Amino acid sequence: MAIQCPKCNSTLITARNMGKKACCSIGIVAGGAQGVSNALKGARIGAEVGAFFGQTGIFLGRLAGALVGAMIGGISGGIAGAKVGEIIDDRVLDNFECMQCEHVFRID
Ligand SMILES: [Zn+2]
Repeated sequence: MAIQCPKCNSTLITARNMGKKACCSIGIVAGGAQGVSNALKGARIGAEVGAFFGQTGIFLGRLAGALVGAMIGGISGGIAGAKVGEIIDDRVLDNFECMQCEHVFRID
């Protein structure tokens, strides 16, 4: 079903996805914070695993563990944020914009 502008009946409609964009960014930041604690955990695990390979192994293990932990936090936060944003876009915000007359509206 094509979306139509309630004002001028144009079908040139674009989704604004403001909530999605905002929440995705917030999610990445929040996830990044989670990522810091993941990074600390990852560094500890990495150091334990790396210990089998001596001093260099501990160093590399810590580094790899920290990076992986931080990335997982940021990415999962971003995904979770985008999901929340999608719901906000659909239910709360006026998510559609007519490219013909610039009317912004929401579909119930
Ligand atoms: Zn319109």
